[in-house]
Amino acid sequence: MIYDGTAAPDADVPRTGGVPLAPEGFTWPVCGDYCGGPMQFFAHLPVEDGVLSVFVCQNDPGACELWDATSGANRVLLFPHAGLVPVVVPEKGVTLLPAVSAITTRVVTLEPEEDDGDDLPRDTYDLARSGWEREPGERFGKQREVLGSLGGSPSYLDDDRLPGCPSCSGTTEFAAHLEEGIDRQTAMNLGGQLGYVFVCRPCSEGAFLTD
Ligand SMILES: [Zn+2]
Ligand SMILES: [Zn+2]
Repeated sequence: MIYDGTAAPDADVPRTGGVPLAPEGFTWPVCGDYCGGPMQFFAHLPVEDGVLSVFVCQNDPGACELWDATSGANRVLLFPHAGLVPVVVPEKGVTLLPAVSAITTRVVTLEPEEDDGDDLPRDTYDLARSGWEREPGERFGKQREVLGSLGGSPSYLDDDRLPGCPSCSGTTEFAAHLEEGIDRQTAMNLGGQLGYVFVCRPCSEGAFLTD
């Protein structure tokens, strides 16, 4: 996922920031950790079978454990594509990001011959991210344009951090990486880490953590 300028706050395009699009009757997620306030909306990520909507508590960073999938301080929802409308934003709390970042996607195919010869398994996200170039011959200069990935496999994440589904406790499927963003002033606060989005499709819900 690559930064692609800005977008309308309610655009039905891949983006970070702006307002969530959700089904009628949606209730803004509230932090289940320390603060109990409304969470901040991070990302609108259309996927094959719906839209992933990512919320993370930013009312009291540090007190609410946004990095932990089981803390209650973050929420991932999978909405059906049809019937999504912009939702009413709560009046209090840290709810919106200061900027909307549109996302364009590029398919990255890793060739087997790029293997560097040692026996360590390659981290596909790390390779894709580090190789991002906008112009032929330009390498490694634009990494802040990389806003994460859709799909792939979780980058350097220990198996014991793979989250279960908050609803059914079953296993989740990896869905996306999220980077903080192109501009430090308007970036999502991930504590300088990488965000991981997982989904349980039968429950239309997911999990989030940073590492
Ligand atoms: Zn909180
Ligand atoms: Zn589930």
